[in-house]
Amino acid sequence: MQAEVIAVGSELLTPSKLDTNSLYLARKLSELGIALARKAVVGDDRASLAEEIRRARRASDLVILSGGLGPTLDDLTREASSDATGRALVLDESVIDEIRERFRRFKRPMAEVNKRQAYVLDGALKLDNPRGTAPGQWLEDDHGVLILLPGPPRELEPMFAEACLPLLASHAPSQRFFTLVLRVAGIGESDLEQRIAPIYAPCTEIATTILSAPGDVQVHLRGQGTSEAEAQAAVQGLGEAIRSELGDAIYSEDGRSLAETAAALLARGGAKLAVAESCTGGLLAGALTTTAGSSEFFAGSVVSYCDSAKSGWLGIDESVLRAHGAVSQPVAVAMAAAARERASDTLGEPAIGLSVTGYAGPGGGTEADPVGTVYFAVADANGARSARRLFGRGRARVRTLAVQTALDILRRRISGLEVA
Ligand code: AMP
Ligand code: MG
Repeated sequence: MQAEVIAVGSELLTPSKLDTNSLYLARKLSELGIALARKAVVGDDRASLAEEIRRARRASDLVILSGGLGPTLDDLTREASSDATGRALVLDESVIDEIRERFRRFKRPMAEVNKRQAYVLDGALKLDNPRGTAPGQWLEDDHGVLILLPGPPRELEPMFAEACLPLLASHAPSQRFFTLVLRVAGIGESDLEQRIAPIYAPCTEIATTILSAPGDVQVHLRGQGTSEAEAQAAVQGLGEAIRSELGDAIYSEDGRSLAETAAALLARGGAKLAVAESCTGGLLAGALTTTAGSSEFFAGSVVSYCDSAKSGWLGIDESVLRAHGAVSQPVAVAMAAAARERASDTLGEPAIGLSVTGYAGPGGGTEADPVGTVYFAVADANGARSARRLFGRGRARVRTLAVQTALDILRRRISGLEVA
């Protein structure tokens, strides 16, 4: 079975609104072993939407539309689906009753325009929407299945899960997918590709995708089989070969982010983390406290941005700052050591210190340490380790890479791996 998703709404063609429904649908379809062959975003235009529906139904046996089921005149998915399928729109009085009842619960009169939402394609099954006024629709004919879903994710997701998945399960092929996700730190996308392409390219039966974000590259290996276990077994060989090439650069295989991985390692180790950051301005602390329960492993962070904050708050020797500059290996080490010592004193137990200091740019930098240079240090009971990285230009990018690298250095230190 081949599927297509059409996201409807002119707002999805503007710079301010992204189609996320297709991501959710792609994930759910993949769980059923249904491949998403194509997706489209179409504005609120009846003729072009009808044309897109016709094209998609010729190419694929499952077409899912999201959005355009609202009460206002710009919502045209019902009409365009009618044009594309040649089926009339039939007024379903029970929908009007449901909408009226919904308005009664909110103590408001039903607007006349809401009646537009009560029109269902002739022969379609109505899909209840307990979280909104627009019902969904399921039409099955000689051309396959056409599903109309409301645009708001909080309405679309439960409707798809509760009403569509059970219906689709009987259409779904006996094929299942399994995706092995290897997340990698410390290696850029091109280097990674160069190293693993010779390994995965010959394995044409496994769909391999490399997803890259600053400081975080993911290798997705998707296998197929008649059961989930068979699909999982299909990717094992390739997974093992890539593991032995990348070694400890792989930080997670269960979907966890680098921050979550470092957090879990810290929680297991028992020592709390104290951070001293400069060019990341609190982003490192932000990343470490994204998930609930961070107080278990995170003591706190000092954002010592200017030199006097470094000397005044962390007690870093002014002569060290003068001699080496704030962006330097000795200052990074002194920051990590100060964070560790102060947290250990405050908590009354040994802590780990982690620091970041660098030139995020666009200004600043020296000949020896140009913009994009960042120093890191980690200090624990066994002493301090430091590292220097050159990230190039782009303030936001440099700061993101600095956070990721600091987390990776922390992960490596706690795991007893070399901090280069
Ligand atoms: P509609 O069903 O077209 O009236 O859409 C209602 C609201 O749902 C829109 O204003 C958007 O905020 C949201 N929405 C519609 N389509 C999508 C989509 N593909 N992804 C995420 N949100 C959407
Ligand atoms: Mg709309």
